[in-house]
Amino acid sequence: MALPPLPRPYQDTAPYWKAAREHRFVIQHCTECGEHQFYPRGVCSHCLSSDLEWQDASGKGEVYSFSVNHRAPHPGFADKLPFVLAIVELAEGPRMMTNIVECHPESVTIGMTVEVVFDDVTEEVTLPKFRPA
Ligand SMILES: [Zn+2]
Repeated sequence: MALPPLPRPYQDTAPYWKAAREHRFVIQHCTECGEHQFYPRGVCSHCLSSDLEWQDASGKGEVYSFSVNHRAPHPGFADKLPFVLAIVELAEGPRMMTNIVECHPESVTIGMTVEVVFDDVTEEVTLPKFRPA
């Protein structure tokens, strides 16, 4: 079974992937302006400050948009069809691209409340995904 393309952590993202490995969902918080952001970056996307800290997020959110994929974009996704690719708006504000899992793809709706779950894809990589709350 082929693996899908996996993240390669680097300086700005390593804390996020390390936390996911520990089944903790963290996002960046700007101590200058108070906003949260996702994806991880070296500076705040709201005020450009580099005074960022990692915070444990609630892991709650709602489906902002989604599509149900019936064709694998890579052999590593072939055993996952059909799967839901979604934009989830986190309770803290930022939106993130993810998968909605543990439900029938046709049951997903915009506005559905979801919660984070952790998919241990390999020994090194865990992907945060979401399921109906
Ligand atoms: Zn800021």
